[in-house]
Amino acid sequence: MSNKFRIILLLFFFYGFSVCNSNAQDLRIQIFKGTNFDEVTFSVTKGQYKFTGDNEFYSIFKKGAIFFISVENGKIILRDKKKLIGNFKAIRFEGISDESMARVKPVSPVMNSRAYDDDCEFYLENAHLKIINKIDLEKYIAGVIESEGGAEASIEYYKAQAVLIRTYAINNMFKHAGDGFNLCDGVHCQAYKGKSQLNDEIYQATLETAGQVLVDADSNLIMSPFHSNCGGITNGSENYWQKPLPYLISVKDPFCTSGRNAVWEKTLPLNEWKNYLLSKGINKTVINSLQDFSYTQPVREKFYTAGEIQIPLRTIREDFDFKSSFFSVVQNGSTIFIKGKGYGHGIGMCQEGAIEMARVGFVYTDILHFYFKDVLLTDYRNLNLENYY
Ligand SMILES: [Zn+2]
Ligand SMILES: [Zn+2]
Repeated sequence: MSNKFRIILLLFFFYGFSVCNSNAQDLRIQIFKGTNFDEVTFSVTKGQYKFTGDNEFYSIFKKGAIFFISVENGKIILRDKKKLIGNFKAIRFEGISDESMARVKPVSPVMNSRAYDDDCEFYLENAHLKIINKIDLEKYIAGVIESEGGAEASIEYYKAQAVLIRTYAINNMFKHAGDGFNLCDGVHCQAYKGKSQLNDEIYQATLETAGQVLVDADSNLIMSPFHSNCGGITNGSENYWQKPLPYLISVKDPFCTSGRNAVWEKTLPLNEWKNYLLSKGINKTVINSLQDFSYTQPVREKFYTAGEIQIPLRTIREDFDFKSSFFSVVQNGSTIFIKGKGYGHGIGMCQEGAIEMARVGFVYTDILHFYFKDVLLTDYRNLNLENYY
């Protein structure tokens, strides 16, 4: 991106940041990322929406209104149940009530519908519909909490999760700046499948922690990863991401060891294991001369080692699609048993551990300080965010 463009964007976002609303922050999220739509329906399920086509105001619509949005001949065609409303380059449904909610249902290709708070905008991109949900930050966080984990945890867990998701969102506000939005709804950014609807405590937790983010000792926003289950020991960032970070160090986690994803196991024929090692460039003589391929990992390590063989555990996890890189290898005759613990990269907050901590009475700040070392909780509105742009 050119500097000039960057400065223009910066001004645009700063304007959005400081002038539009001093208390709330809106984010533009690309939704249904990765799917090329030719037709969707948009229905108003709560409140009122103001409809604008190519920047021209048309009308206000209430609950019950339904629209058919399709792409034909390089234009967005908008119809209601009875008639053609018009064709446009871009259309916007702006939620104008306190709680406006709509449902977007992909028709071509067919997918399950999703509910969204606030505004929805439709653009053309490569002759397909690109959909943006412009949404209040805290409502977005509630949607991500629900998309990223269960809906039956205690509120202190949701608060911890809210702080991590908010920290990520603020830290990555400009990840998609060149694409015209802040974040996408895929795992590339944070999974967001629309409005949080399963448990009212999720949104309550975001509001009770509104604005709070984690910073390191230098007041920089931290990387705030989380994962399903660490298998009893979280991973140091250097084991997985090369870079050691002082707040992402390995911690012993007694809270997740009875969790759903605490252990896993895979079995492979010894020959398959040998062929795999060969495919990773290990010398055939080295492989053939080795009698025992067993390897134990009592604490989190970076490499699988057996004899002269050394391969990053992350590489093996990704190649075999293992649940985690926290595994030992046991050779028994011509069979290899992979005995694994946990699910996910293991760095940062362990969700199943955090859910258990909240259940037994820890509060969200205890949970965050347990998984992230030497970090501080602060309000992002007090930070000098210029450093991040
Ligand atoms: Zn993304
Ligand atoms: Zn854990």
